[in-house]
Amino acid sequence: MSNDVAMQGNPLVLIADDDPTTRLIMRETLEQAGFDVIEACDGKAAIEYFESTAPNLVLLDVDMPFLDGFTVCQKIRESETGRKTPVCIVTGLDDDQSIQHAFDVGATDFVSKPIAWPILSHRVRYMLRASDTLNEINGLISALPDTIYVLDKDGQSYDNSDDSGDTRTSALPTIDESFEDIFPSNENDQLLEYIRRALATSEPQVLEHTDAAGTTHLETRLIARDEQSVLAIVRDVTERKNTESQIYDLAFFDKLTGLPNRQRFAMVVDSIIQAAHRNQGQFAILFIDLDRFKRINDTLGHSIGDDLLKSVAMRLEECTRSSDHLLHVDDGNFEGARLARLGGDEFVVILPDVDCEDSVSAVASRIISSLSQPFSCEGYQFVVTPSIGIAIYPQDGDTHDELLMNADSAMYRAKAAGRNNYQFYSGTMKIRSLFRLDMENELRHAIEEEHFQLYYQPKVDLKTWEIVGVEALLRWNHAERGWISPADFVPVAEESGLILSLGTWVLNNACQQLRLWQDSDLGPLSISVNVSPQQMYSGDLGAAVTNALKTSGARADKLELEITEGLLMRDVDATIVTLKYLKKLGLSLSIDDFGTGYSSLSYLKRFPIDVLKIDRSFVQDLHRDSDDAAICAAILAMARQLDLKVVAEGVELEEQLTFLQQHRCDQIQGYLFSKPLTIPDFESFARDHRVSRNQDERGIVQFSGKGP
Ligand code: C2E
Ligand code: MG
Ligand code: MG
Repeated sequence: MSNDVAMQGNPLVLIADDDPTTRLIMRETLEQAGFDVIEACDGKAAIEYFESTAPNLVLLDVDMPFLDGFTVCQKIRESETGRKTPVCIVTGLDDDQSIQHAFDVGATDFVSKPIAWPILSHRVRYMLRASDTLNEINGLISALPDTIYVLDKDGQSYDNSDDSGDTRTSALPTIDESFEDIFPSNENDQLLEYIRRALATSEPQVLEHTDAAGTTHLETRLIARDEQSVLAIVRDVTERKNTESQIYDLAFFDKLTGLPNRQRFAMVVDSIIQAAHRNQGQFAILFIDLDRFKRINDTLGHSIGDDLLKSVAMRLEECTRSSDHLLHVDDGNFEGARLARLGGDEFVVILPDVDCEDSVSAVASRIISSLSQPFSCEGYQFVVTPSIGIAIYPQDGDTHDELLMNADSAMYRAKAAGRNNYQFYSGTMKIRSLFRLDMENELRHAIEEEHFQLYYQPKVDLKTWEIVGVEALLRWNHAERGWISPADFVPVAEESGLILSLGTWVLNNACQQLRLWQDSDLGPLSISVNVSPQQMYSGDLGAAVTNALKTSGARADKLELEITEGLLMRDVDATIVTLKYLKKLGLSLSIDDFGTGYSSLSYLKRFPIDVLKIDRSFVQDLHRDSDDAAICAAILAMARQLDLKVVAEGVELEEQLTFLQQHRCDQIQGYLFSKPLTIPDFESFARDHRVSRNQDERGIVQFSGKGP
């Protein structure tokens, strides 16, 4: 039954009074004001009429036969329909005790006799409107996902169903569980503190907790209601909490291994830095990169690669779990964050509270020996060795970025020192990285001043033992630093875009040299020129080549461009278009550093290429590493099928040469024959080679040319 006045014709008012005159005047007054009226002459009749007609409002006299007004009110309140009906007690007793009694039994209001007749209808209308508003609020609140309690300042909840005449409480829906039932008792102190704050500041206070059983996440918002009590609006936030934790996991943890990721690592290191700063402590960062992981990934597939990374993560966890290296940081729990995966095959370990380098070395050695046990994945067995770089706070940096960068440079040194080892960061590395910052400016200057020179490294045909060509290798003759290797400055030139003008300079120079040799007794030699990714994609490589050939008058078929393998796969279709265009100019194309990229056979077929250059890293160990030997043999067999020539670069040893000959490699390039040489050195080397070939078929002479 609704008390909605507007929806149902005239509101019905039940008048209960044993005095017929009072009833008559009341009826007159109310009917004139637009109410329907029903009369009861005693308490019993009042209850009967209430139940049968469900009036919108009740006016109750106190003194009546059978049941007095207080009792009638109480009975109405106990009935289902009467819980929310406004009941007004009309009485001549206006002492405090009677008023209190009226409210105790659930009266909404009371009017004292003698009645001020002109305002009775206004009073009745007001009570109905107030009751409607309350019911609407009640409906709204029931529709909210929140449960609302009223708490006193000691955290005790009022009973919302207890219609004590307090309109603000009676608007709240009845709740089965009391606040005490849902709030965990061990957090009571915090609750009291928050209530105190809500009362003192009238700012809402938000408290997150679980329910008493600990299974549901709840958020309780405490809002001051008056000086003595607060509203506690309780919401189930379990779903939100779960989503939050999923988002947190995605943002801060690596999906594959479940380890903290780079972002989480940075946060953890920041906190450890703060703690170490306070305690004047030290800690170490170990940057771990897996040697040749990429090859395993490429040859055996990503699912084996993924399995391997997971197993590596597990081994690393074991290595770092020993009690002496658990993270104990005062102000945070970093359990599980001592190890992180930065991406790819890069992991990082944090060792807090290190007192000496020896203890760090011990962990690094433990990692190396743990990983040296073969892994088995899907029936394959293999060993992945790590290269580890170590930086120590505070001596090697005082931000996570700096520490990581320095651990990373140390890791590169570990790789350069033959992999499968660890290196501490040292100041000289810092000097090198600072040097890199200066380098860009100096490079710009050097290009203007032409401080570059090309060296030429011979390539020898394994059937005829003739020098069939040379690779042009760039050198920077620095006024103060002497000769600088392209491995050091080419990356800087690439980053800064300077590679374009530098590359054009190389092309022009190499073509001029080609023309000179073309007309000399050394010809016909071919020259190969290295091309960097930016040159390839800048759009005018074709124009630069055409121009270099035209100005020099060199033969296009003696020019070869070397393109690194990784580059080809960036945008296969665009690359094919560019390569075809270059081929049309009549030159040949070679894939440099082959084996280190991601080329699949099907792609190779689509590229208009002539030569594969097996990367030095495979050649280097092929005589003692069966994997490398297998890879070289496979590349050679595959190239034969595709009708491609193969050049092995970095050949230093007789054993390597023998292997390559047996597997019918076409050409070799490497220190076994010759280092890169200046022009005069190369020319005399080539002439000597021709002479000595007449004595020793192969003409291998250990020639030590000048220069780098
Ligand atoms: P790359 O094209 O793979 O060149 C071969 C590198 O291996 C050269 O290093 C060469 O000196 C070295 N090398 C040759 N035989 C042996 C050997 O038997 N043992 C050892 N340990 N090394 C050997 P370099 O001259 O330092 O050049 C490094 C890289 O710099 C080149 O690798 C190439 O990628 C790049 N580069 C050189 N010149 C140019 C250039 O003019 N333009 C561009 N874009 N890159 C260049
Ligand atoms: Mg090359
Ligand atoms: Mg190469």
